[in-house]
Amino acid sequence: MTKDGGTVRIRPIVPDDAPALQAFVKNMSTESSYFRFFRVKRELEPAELEEFTQLDYDSQMAFVAIADGNLVGVGRYTAGDDPDGFAEAAFTVADGLQGKGIGTLLVYRISAFARARGVRGFRAYLLADNHAMMRVFRNAGFSMRRDIDEGVYTIEIDTEHSEAVIEAEGRAEQIAIAASVMPLFYPTSIAVIGASRNKASIGGRLFNNIINADFNGPLYPVNPNASVVRSIHCYASVKDIPGTVDLAFIVVPARFVNAVVRECAEKGVRGVVVISAGFSETGEAGAQMERELLDIVRDSGMRMVGPNCMGLLNTDPAVNLDGQFGPIVPRAGNVSMSSQSGALGLAILDYATELNLGISTFVSVGNKADVAGDDLLLFWEEDPNTDVILLYLESFGSPRRFSRIARRIAKKKPIVAVKSGRTAAGARAASSHTGSLASLDVAVDALFRQAGVIRVSTLEELFDVTALLASQPVPQGDRVGVITNAGGPAILAVDALESQGLTVPELSHGLQAELRSFLSDQAAVANPIDMIAAAGPEQYRQAIETLLGSDEVDALITLFIPASEEGVSETATAIREAGEAPLHGKTFLCVYMQSGGAPTELSSPDVGFPTFSFPERAAKALRKAVTYAEWLARPEGRIVGFDDLDVARARDVVERAIDGVDEDGIWLDPDSVDALLESYGIAIPKAQVVATVEDAVAFGRDLGGPIVLKVISPSAVHKSDVGGVVLDVSGADQITDAYNQVTGSVSDPDGVLVQEFVPGGHEVLIGMVEDPTFGPLIVFGLGGVFVELIGDVAFRIHPLTDLDASEMISELRSAKLLEGYRGGDPGDVDAVVDTLLRVSALIEDVPEIFEMDLNPVKVGTPGSGVRIVDARIKVRATTGTWIPSRTDLPSKI
Ligand code: ADP
Ligand code: MG
Repeated sequence: MTKDGGTVRIRPIVPDDAPALQAFVKNMSTESSYFRFFRVKRELEPAELEEFTQLDYDSQMAFVAIADGNLVGVGRYTAGDDPDGFAEAAFTVADGLQGKGIGTLLVYRISAFARARGVRGFRAYLLADNHAMMRVFRNAGFSMRRDIDEGVYTIEIDTEHSEAVIEAEGRAEQIAIAASVMPLFYPTSIAVIGASRNKASIGGRLFNNIINADFNGPLYPVNPNASVVRSIHCYASVKDIPGTVDLAFIVVPARFVNAVVRECAEKGVRGVVVISAGFSETGEAGAQMERELLDIVRDSGMRMVGPNCMGLLNTDPAVNLDGQFGPIVPRAGNVSMSSQSGALGLAILDYATELNLGISTFVSVGNKADVAGDDLLLFWEEDPNTDVILLYLESFGSPRRFSRIARRIAKKKPIVAVKSGRTAAGARAASSHTGSLASLDVAVDALFRQAGVIRVSTLEELFDVTALLASQPVPQGDRVGVITNAGGPAILAVDALESQGLTVPELSHGLQAELRSFLSDQAAVANPIDMIAAAGPEQYRQAIETLLGSDEVDALITLFIPASEEGVSETATAIREAGEAPLHGKTFLCVYMQSGGAPTELSSPDVGFPTFSFPERAAKALRKAVTYAEWLARPEGRIVGFDDLDVARARDVVERAIDGVDEDGIWLDPDSVDALLESYGIAIPKAQVVATVEDAVAFGRDLGGPIVLKVISPSAVHKSDVGGVVLDVSGADQITDAYNQVTGSVSDPDGVLVQEFVPGGHEVLIGMVEDPTFGPLIVFGLGGVFVELIGDVAFRIHPLTDLDASEMISELRSAKLLEGYRGGDPGDVDAVVDTLLRVSALIEDVPEIFEMDLNPVKVGTPGSGVRIVDARIKVRATTGTWIPSRTDLPSKI
């Protein structure tokens, strides 16, 4: 994707690219050729062609940019034995295509590749007047040094993934992707392929919806079996349409789809929405067809929604695009939504309309072969018509990418998501504490929490939260005022609020007196403010104004339970006017409790606040909004770097261990575990693996203190369960007895681990398990061997920031234990945070680790540190051996 939305595919160069590369060089302008080769080069010699296209993909690497099937850019590096770890790099983009961001894409892609292979930076030589390339380097956000010598600049850029680079990458990605999906939302002309005269058919309904919504541009029906659809001349093929076609909806049987889309590509269509079903959702044959479809779409640079979807709509009056086939025409508003389920999409539009939620854009993404939630998020990020984003998700393409994008966007607009389903980690047989703990839906929770996405579990909640956030400011705190005209419902409201962890504070004497001045003597004014059944419009108005004007609450829930028909309209009007008063900055919610729903004064589309039918729903929605506000206010965490890590030693240990191991991996032996932990500064007790009683006794004697003996055996997963652990023994006799006991506890003893005995302290668990889609999950919990039983654990997705690490501890219900609960010793929390961060660093540098169980980590008193007395680490060869492929995904950077 480039700045103006054209698609460019960045992929590794392959030997077959030689002819295309030759053509590229031949087409270079004199100037470009001079810039690139420092002389004018008309073509490459055979040897040069070979040198440029046959690379080892390690110390030499090149990526090519492909647009419309042509090679339009190359970026390459060659790493020699530069002492600073710098590689020489060169970039060239086709003359007509400079300034579109292709150079930037190449720089990002190749620097990410180089970074992963230990290249620290690039050195490039540029002629002083090669401004285009200078601009590329500068805009890419890399830190850069320049040196000029006889008109030649030596540019050095660090490949480090700094904040500046990440930010610039994010910006480039946002601009490029948002531009690429523009034709889907703002087409200038539309074709409906498969438009039908049968009004009941999907093609008929879709066509009618587009017409009925008054689409702001030409609309062309395409159907070889009809000459006219709804009085509009119908074409046999999209290619017969005289004018240009921006967007095509495709509603033909699956077997015709690919041919039709190919015609669209030839016609120059920029976006397609494939409604037709019968693709990957039906099995392998369909999946194959979907891959071909995607190839057609990507090769041509179009963007595609679907297949197997309901369509999309954009209520912006500039287009009036109702490109879905359902019967509902939603009201225009500020909420945008994507749904992975077509059927649910319909229900959602229906429900939204009933609740008066206005929709800005809606996309049913279907099988999301091309356009997926991430692309839409990037579009909505800068879309002025969208204030709240709703996602109905069944699966993630790339959770990491989602998380990176969502984290940035959630700072600007709330993202509310429903995600069903378990994660794959749960499917794997649990062979460690961590493994069994991860069998819940924790990865999604962790992902959403870290990214600031508001997770809801039901559609009802989805709409309640959305209704609140679409009209109200986020609460500045968790203090809630409750105004009511009936006691019972107020008690329910207070209970619901408190069970959601919100506060219903007692109001100050001053505020109570103020309320008292206009309320009846029987009224309660402490909060909840029960104005009793006699309360009329004026009491409501004044009470609301008083609370909203005070600084004692952050949100206000007004309950109205009419005792009779009389005066309902007046009171409702008073509530509305007071609740809509501008600039009070508080979060205002109304609860109208009576069957039959709220009167129009409180329910018409233009009411500026949400009205709920039950206090519990209002409380839940408010809770979500408060949690989101807390996330917004939270400082950015930092990924901590350590300068005392022995990366080489850690890699060495692991590389030796995985030699010849299959993909199921292997648990490291105790010596390797200790070496690995030690090289990352993770504290372990003194320990040794012994094969004889004598060596065990000698270890105890040398240590000069009590020791622990543990049997080493492939069959004993939890050693203490089988009597394979003896604690706190000293002296030859005790050690000999213990030795005999632990070796006798299993049938296959394979040596004994002797360790320094670490007395006292709290026992905590730090673990990691790799989820196939989410990547490494890190867990922290209290309770040692009881951790599964107690289940008080916190999960985060790697990598951890310092803030993540301390929150993992503080969010546990049992966190108080580490603070020194009821006379117990407090624990060294700082050392636990440090250990969590070091574990995260280890996982980053050694991706071969895919399961880890540090249980227990013994936590001493503050200042005395922690000691990992039992650790299991599983490793396997990573799939990092990278294979260049023609089908490398197109670049979304
Ligand atoms: P497993 O988990 O396989 O049963 P551990 O090595 O975790 O075996 O030992 C079981 C328990 O013994 C630990 O949870 C801890 O309470 C205690 N323990 C183990 N090693 C030590 C040690 N070096 N110092 C003090 N206590 C220990
Ligand atoms: Mg253990």
